Amino acid sequence: MIAISLQSGSNGNCIFVEADGIKLLFDAGITGVQAEERLAAHGYNIRKIDAVIISHDHGDHIRHAGVYQRKYGLPLYATPATLAAASARCNLGKLNDVRHFRSSDKLRFGGLLVHAISTPHDGADGSAFVIESSMKRLGVLTDLGHVFKDLARIVESLDAVFLESNYDPAMLAAGPYPAHLKQRIKGPHGHLSNKEAAELLCRAAKSKRLQWACLAHLSEQNNHPSVALRTHCEITDGNVPLYVAGRYSATEILTVA
Ligand SMILES: [Zn+2]
Ligand SMILES: [Zn+2]
Repeated sequence: MIAISLQSGSNGNCIFVEADGIKLLFDAGITGVQAEERLAAHGYNIRKIDAVIISHDHGDHIRHAGVYQRKYGLPLYATPATLAAASARCNLGKLNDVRHFRSSDKLRFGGLLVHAISTPHDGADGSAFVIESSMKRLGVLTDLGHVFKDLARIVESLDAVFLESNYDPAMLAAGPYPAHLKQRIKGPHGHLSNKEAAELLCRAAKSKRLQWACLAHLSEQNNHPSVALRTHCEITDGNVPLYVAGRYSATEILTVA
């Protein structure tokens, strides 16, 4: 299994995963052209994607979904509540091929299984995902709300993970955001801090199964890759190989061996 974060953060999210001959995109928060070009840079044709799976209704995850479908003919997977909430907020345009799932479903694509996991984030009906193929499990875990029951157990069960590491609490406290936004981010339906994410990885590292973690959905104002990496290295004691998903660029191809 391989994966590429094409972009990650509040200005747009899109993760590519390929396994067992199946190619998936998780979220459609960057433009069609950006997704097409960043996939092409790694030798992948966006028109060959089998499905676009949407995590939740926030614009940074769904904004360009209509284009992915109309321009490239990609089937769109979303929960009914996600689609209704997103359609009310941003103009997705005409959608011809929408396939509904529920936020606790398992989606099967050939030999690949996508487990949807309901999240307490403040989207209408958010999901995180575990992709499973040939006994390997990859997590796509962002916009999580808080460290909900079962999250630690899920991370422990993974061979690799994209994990939200959104903010540094001191930077958030000292930063320019208005009080209500600060409260939203650190509240029970917002995002995970560097420390919360690192503690999950520290626990998971004990099982020796986790091959790497790619820190995702970093805030521009309230975090920095070097700050996130420092916190993670301190808490995990260097026991987890780390990558950081860029806010403006794609990662390298990350392999789950
Ligand atoms: Zn988001
Ligand atoms: Zn969100």
